[in-house]
Amino acid sequence: MKAEIISVGTELLLGELADTNTSFIAGQLAMLGIDLHHASLVGDNRERLLAALRQARQRADLIITTGGLGPTQDDITREAIAGLLEEEPAVDPALKQDLIDYFARRGIEMPENNIRQAVLIPSAVGLPNLRGTAPGWWAEKEGKVIVALPGPPPELQAMWQREVYPRLEKMSSAVIISRTIKTWGVGEAKVDEMTAPVLSAKNPTVGIYSKQDGIHLRITAKAAEKETARKMIARPEAEIRRILGDNIWGTDEETLEGILGQLLIKKGLTLAVAESFTGGLLSYTFASAPESERFFRGGIILGGGEARTAFGLKSPPLAGRASDGITAKMASIARTELGADIGFGIDGYAEPSVDISTGKIFVAIDAGKSSQSVTHNYSGRPHQIVRRAVQSALFDLYRVLR
Ligand code: AMP
Ligand code: MG
Repeated sequence: MKAEIISVGTELLLGELADTNTSFIAGQLAMLGIDLHHASLVGDNRERLLAALRQARQRADLIITTGGLGPTQDDITREAIAGLLEEEPAVDPALKQDLIDYFARRGIEMPENNIRQAVLIPSAVGLPNLRGTAPGWWAEKEGKVIVALPGPPPELQAMWQREVYPRLEKMSSAVIISRTIKTWGVGEAKVDEMTAPVLSAKNPTVGIYSKQDGIHLRITAKAAEKETARKMIARPEAEIRRILGDNIWGTDEETLEGILGQLLIKKGLTLAVAESFTGGLLSYTFASAPESERFFRGGIILGGGEARTAFGLKSPPLAGRASDGITAKMASIARTELGADIGFGIDGYAEPSVDISTGKIFVAIDAGKSSQSVTHNYSGRPHQIVRRAVQSALFDLYRVLR
C-alpha cells in the first residue's frame, strides 16, 4: 500500500510553524509497513489543495491530510475532498449533536461557524475528536482511502491512536521492525567498508548514520508478521556484532551514560568526576542518567589557572596546557574529595581554528589501587569537540568497566 501525506496550512509555507504532523505520521506509517512515497505542504487555498489531492489520488492508495478542519472560512480541507470525490457536503445530525454537547460541557453556546465542522459527504464517516471540536474524516471510494485529520498535534495524535492506526493495521499486509546498533571508535567510512557484505541486502536493509554518540547501524525488516520480521533481523545483527565486536556499546534507545550507570550500580560502585575542558558537560551527562543518585557522587569543574591550586593542582608544572599528568591528578582528587570508588578525570585542548580543529583529549580513571590513562588525538569541527570528548571519555570508562 502506497501512502501520501498532505499538510494544509499557509503558516507552514511561511515558515512560522514546523510541520511536525508529517514526521509523526511518517513514523507511524513506517511501523505499519505502509510505504510513504510523497509528502507535501499546501497553503489554505481550495484550488491548490484540490490539485494536490488529485495528483495524490493518481499515485497513492492512501491519502492523509492534516489541518484545515477548523470552523473558519480558510479551513478548506473538507470542501476540497468533497470536490475531489464530486460529492455534496451536508450537515450530519450526529456530528452536530457531538459539537453541541462539546460546547455544552464547557458551558458555552456553540458559535454559528462551528456547524461547518459537522458536515460529511456520503463516502465519509466522522472520526470523533476527544480533544477538540473538529471531527476527522475517513473516506473510502473506488478502492482509495482519504483520511482528514485536524492540525493541532495533540488532537491529531489522539485521533490517530484511537481511530486511524487500528483501521490501517487491519488494511496493511506488512509490518516493519527495526533495530539500531550503536558503535564508538570507528569512523563512518570505515564502518561502511567493514560491513559492506550486509549493506547490499534489500530486506532487511541496513543503513549507517553518523550521530553524536557514534556511528549507528539500523537494520530494518519488512514482513507479513512481526515475528518473521524479528527473525529476519537476527542474522544481519549477528553478522554486524561479529564484525564490529567491542566497538558496539548499545542498541535502540540506550545511551552510553545509562549503560554505565547500570553497570556501576550492578557492581556497587560510585563515581566522581573532575573536568576542565568540557566545562561541566561530563558531570551533567552523568547527573541526567537514570538513577544517577545511586552511582554519581558529583563533579568538580575546574577553570584554568588559579582555581586549580585550590585542589592542589599547583602551577607550574600543572598549570597551562592540559596533559595526562594533570588529568590523572584530577581523577584522584575527584575520587578522594567526593568519596567515590572511581575518580574520572577529563581535560584537553583544541588548537584554535574556524574550520577543522585538532587537539588532544586526556582521560584518566582512578580506582585507588589502580589507574588508567588514555589520550585521544582529535580532529573535527570546532563546535563538536567538547561533545566528542565527553563521548570518548564515556566509551573509555565503558571499556574499563566491562
Ligand atoms: P487547522 O486544523 O488548520 O486549523 O490547524 C490548527 C493548528 O494546528 C495550527 O494553528 C497549528 O498550530 C497546528 N498545526 C496545523 N498543521 C500542523 C502541522 N502540519 N504540524 C504541526 N502543527 C500543525
Ligand atoms: Mg490551518
